[in-house]
Amino acid sequence: MKKYNFYAGPAILPQEVFKEASQAVLDFNGMGLSILEISHRSAEFQAVMDEAYELVRELLTLPDHYEPMFLQGGASGQFGMIPMNILGDNETAGYVNTGNWAEKAIKDAKLYGNVTLLADSSDKNYSYIPKEYSIPTDLKYLHITSNNTVRGTQYHSLPDTEVKLVADMSSDIFSRPLDIKKYGVIYAGAQKNMGPAGTTLLIVDKNFLNEPVRPLPNMMNYQNHISKKSSYNTPPAFAVYVSMLTLRWVKAQGGVKAMAKKNIEKSTLLYNEIDNNELFFGTTAKEDRSQMSVTFKLQDEELTNTFLEKCAEAGCVGIKGHRSVGGFRASIYNAMELEGVKTLVDVMKDLGSKKG
Ligand SMILES: *Cc1c(COP(=O)(O)O)cnc(C)c1O
Repeated sequence: MKKYNFYAGPAILPQEVFKEASQAVLDFNGMGLSILEISHRSAEFQAVMDEAYELVRELLTLPDHYEPMFLQGGASGQFGMIPMNILGDNETAGYVNTGNWAEKAIKDAKLYGNVTLLADSSDKNYSYIPKEYSIPTDLKYLHITSNNTVRGTQYHSLPDTEVKLVADMSSDIFSRPLDIKKYGVIYAGAQKNMGPAGTTLLIVDKNFLNEPVRPLPNMMNYQNHISKKSSYNTPPAFAVYVSMLTLRWVKAQGGVKAMAKKNIEKSTLLYNEIDNNELFFGTTAKEDRSQMSVTFKLQDEELTNTFLEKCAEAGCVGIKGHRSVGGFRASIYNAMELEGVKTLVDVMKDLGSKKG
């Protein structure tokens, strides 16, 4: 039976990518060797890394002074690595707290410099993106989480400031075009919208990122990863390879503009059902609704198990909400087809008619 994967992460990837990746595990490019066993210094793997870099540059139209990197340690590793490299002891960074991930980023930043909490949506369970707040012009950077994977909120416009943004885009990178010049650093764990778990994409503005502000172990120092093109040590070769295949797929689909169009279509379909079906309600402010992480609840929680059973019968898996918030969450990343969302909507409609 066909499954529709709504898990938040690790998450759905295109079937074509799974097929090609599994072939490469057996025999990569007709070499008679697996992608898993070749040297990361080989010409064959370096071609993979080169293409991954090229695809990131092309899909996000990066100017030359921006540099991608494929690192390890997850998006969580970047919560500390960013301030460690950039934020001096006496300098101040601004953070906006839109939920779990931002909170963790704030905690780590405080280890290295001053943190100003510019805005915080915890007063309403992180159900919205704060918009009215003033931003000091002397901040080293302003940190935002572009999509709150857990709560289902997403920035649809950026803070109005000349201060460089540092953005955790783990759950919406490559889902839509972005205004790259506003960013000093973008980071994203691959396993939501870009590839398998095991690598984290960094994109840095080299004019913004100078030598680290304090002595650092080599692996923590961005300059080493930039100068060695993500091969300072053994890179997460397979994760980079599968991410590269996924980016090839994004390009073949028409790039991030085409992704955005599809993502709007899918999320609109689902939110319309949430709003029109009297059994359900959305949990976030309408203007801040995420096109990737759609959160909702049942009016009558007693229907939870029935709903989840019907989802399972229709092949829809992974829609239980994050353990910290309950309810439901449909993660509808790039690789989720419209058909999957239609199937989920049909289950919701069906539940409604059974009750009414
Ligand atoms: C999943 C997620 C993280 C954590 O990613 P790891 O790669 O597991 O460290 C951080 N930020 C956001 C927005 C996420 O969705």
